[in-house]
Amino acid sequence: MSTAGLKGINAAGHLGWVTRKCRICAKKLDLTVDVVYVCKACMHTREAYFCPADAKRLHYRCPFCRRELVTLDELS
Ligand SMILES: [Zn+2]
Ligand SMILES: [Zn+2]
Repeated sequence: MSTAGLKGINAAGHLGWVTRKCRICAKKLDLTVDVVYVCKACMHTREAYFCPADAKRLHYRCPFCRRELVTLDELS
């Protein structure tokens, strides 16, 4: 009897550290601490995460689809 095998992987709770790399400069971004800009449309498919410096350089537009970048805070 083991039906709970895969449970817990997506369960809310301990977030731990979550890091992504800036798509432009490869700087490590800590999603729980740093201000991180993302493209809502591309963040999952193309890992469109950007540090503030590069987001500014991009005029806050996604280089892939030209949509406006938002901070992760604005997403939630
Ligand atoms: Zn960067
Ligand atoms: Zn995009």
